[in-house]
Amino acid sequence: MLDILRRIVQEVNLANNLEQALKIIVKRVKNVMDVDVCSVFLTNELDNEYVLMATDGLNSEAVGKVRMSDKVGLVSLVGMRAEALNIADAEKNPRYHHFPEVSEESFHGFLGVPIIHHRKVLGVLVIQSSAVQKFSEDDETFLMTVAAQLAGAIVHAEASGGINGLQQSKGEKDYKAKPINGLPGAPGVAMGTAVVMYPSADIDAIPDRHISDVEKEIKVFDDAVEAVVNDITGLSERLKDVLPEEDRALFDVYLLMLKSQAISGVTRDRIREGNWAQGALRQTILEHEQVFHEMEDSYLRERADDVRDLGRRILMHLQEESPEKIEYPHNTVLVGEDISASMLAEIPNDRLSGVISVRGSRTSHVAILARAMSIPAVMGATDLPVGRIDGRTIIADGYSGRVFISPSSDIFDEFKRLVKEETELSDELMELRDLPAKTEDGIEISLLVNSGLLSDITPSLQSGAEGIGLYRTEFPFMERQKFPSEEEQRSIYRQVLESFHPRPVTLRTLDVGGDKALPYFPIEEDNPFLGWRGIRITLDHPEIFLVQVRAMVRASKGLNNLKILLPMISDISELNEALGLIHQVYGELLEEGEEVVMPEIGVMIEVPSAVYQAGNLARRVDFLSIGTNDLTQYLLAVDRNNPRVASLYDSLHPAVIRAILQVVESARAHNKPVSVCGEMAGDPIAALLLLAMGIDSLSMSVSSLPRVKWVIRNVTRERARQILSEVLLIEDTAGIRKYLNQTFEDAGMGGLVRAGN
Ligand code: PEP
Ligand code: MG
Repeated sequence: MLDILRRIVQEVNLANNLEQALKIIVKRVKNVMDVDVCSVFLTNELDNEYVLMATDGLNSEAVGKVRMSDKVGLVSLVGMRAEALNIADAEKNPRYHHFPEVSEESFHGFLGVPIIHHRKVLGVLVIQSSAVQKFSEDDETFLMTVAAQLAGAIVHAEASGGINGLQQSKGEKDYKAKPINGLPGAPGVAMGTAVVMYPSADIDAIPDRHISDVEKEIKVFDDAVEAVVNDITGLSERLKDVLPEEDRALFDVYLLMLKSQAISGVTRDRIREGNWAQGALRQTILEHEQVFHEMEDSYLRERADDVRDLGRRILMHLQEESPEKIEYPHNTVLVGEDISASMLAEIPNDRLSGVISVRGSRTSHVAILARAMSIPAVMGATDLPVGRIDGRTIIADGYSGRVFISPSSDIFDEFKRLVKEETELSDELMELRDLPAKTEDGIEISLLVNSGLLSDITPSLQSGAEGIGLYRTEFPFMERQKFPSEEEQRSIYRQVLESFHPRPVTLRTLDVGGDKALPYFPIEEDNPFLGWRGIRITLDHPEIFLVQVRAMVRASKGLNNLKILLPMISDISELNEALGLIHQVYGELLEEGEEVVMPEIGVMIEVPSAVYQAGNLARRVDFLSIGTNDLTQYLLAVDRNNPRVASLYDSLHPAVIRAILQVVESARAHNKPVSVCGEMAGDPIAALLLLAMGIDSLSMSVSSLPRVKWVIRNVTRERARQILSEVLLIEDTAGIRKYLNQTFEDAGMGGLVRAGN
């Protein structure tokens, strides 16, 4: 069963468009389940109706025409209840509605199951039989499993509408393409042309791309095939003395396959349809691989690997022949499976308008870089059909994490309006640059920036920030092939400390593990966020910690604006040990005659245990800094990088708010300043609450700073306190967000929460 399911899903994933995908589903399910009819209805949310999108068994003319409101019919009942419906004789059911155009009079048995993706009913999968009979429980569970597996594939196909842009599918014309939901990565809205970046020689990653010079592209393809023919012939020749004739026969098979209509011919046909050679080759190879996979004979099944191998060889030549020189369009929106910081850097600054990555989250390196560069980013867009959107118009909404592919003109115009308002707002906010973050009743709060790359120093300085509240030192470690030396580190830290002098700079000691890996120090764990991370690693490797602290303290010589921050402290003993090592370094440097001063030391409060021990921690150090990114993750047991549970991840959860309050009280009791350096500090709505709580400083990405400053300058601490006391009465996160959004709207500050509101 599992095998059958896997094959259906694979086949659906290869489909060229939604129409084809749905046709495959109904045909395969009907055959496998041996029933008389299989149909798919999809939800059309805008009109509250279910539309027949594909059928095998009913009148195919009815596709696209049968539309059922959510008030009538069995299908809509399945969708509304989000529950399977299994009945022996459909006609006898009071909800039954007769659609003459489908000709279903002769079918009685009805089983419908909802197709659900991320809680949303996408549609209904139905099987029918001519016999008056209920389907078995096995049938029911199988159909439910099929529907659950197919939901993701349908979302892919749906999102890309006419899919590869080469041929628009008829059945989809009036089907409204839906946005893809990802995670907000960097604020702002990018509207432009999708440019897909992919790792080379990876056949699965090749996108489709439209070409106009077909003959030239065919020549490129033929040359690559010819080159592979030569390679293989040469290989076979060279192995003449080593391999018997029989074994070398494999090479002849390769040559035959290469020249066959099935591979070369079909690929050429696809190029003639307007796809470039690499995209056409990908389609052919994946299709063939699938055919071989389905063969009963195990020997033939294994030939699928040969097809892939051939594909890879041709691809390598194609990529060698035409080392891609991409002409980046204005307003390039960079798209990829796993966009890295270096990919981002490849695009000229004046062309890049946004980033969309299938993997990663707000806390990924590339998202942090995008924020530093003020480029909107959407991360974790897991349903994005990357291979099919190159060259298409695309909108990346970095506030909500939504992506629109080939948006309708209505959507496009609406976003254009938002972007315009946003630009106006940013210009206004820039005027606040040199003004203090002071409330109307005179309470001042320090606004600092989070940084981690030398490239964000200039924008940080220009933002009017009062210092660096969090410098993530892991980035210089990630970009190298081995641990950076003391001198390398000292020189980087010195540049940061010097640039901001005399303003304070908080350097955090190495915080790798979790989702941050070093290529030369791999950590394989089942549960990395609960594993060897942050201070746990550096205390186990004092040689790394000592070198880093030495580099930091030496870098601050003569400047004395350094603060050191310790990540992931979950127990007092860890802090004691770390303090011991820092004092050891300081003593050694003094002994060596270095004229250094002891920096202020702080602890990150980002683990629940640290919240309850905040007083004991505060007593031992100079300041506390609340890392709300991890604190939220650990308090709510929600992985901060997992798009599936992203809707549960919210720092405005009542438990997080109460935890922060408790930390502030503990710090106060020991007369120690406390800051917030997680993303929460950069959310204007949340910043208001943090101000009310008495937080001394907020550290955020540079792009968030102007908005937060505006809020602080337009409120009194008294008013903020009233709002906080209201919030403390609300029991759920959604309620808190709603209340705060409304409060912002009422105060005329909706535009700060997102442009155009
Ligand atoms: C945090 O956890 O809130 C934090 C600021 O650290 P990071 O995002 O680097 O884990
Ligand atoms: Mg953290």
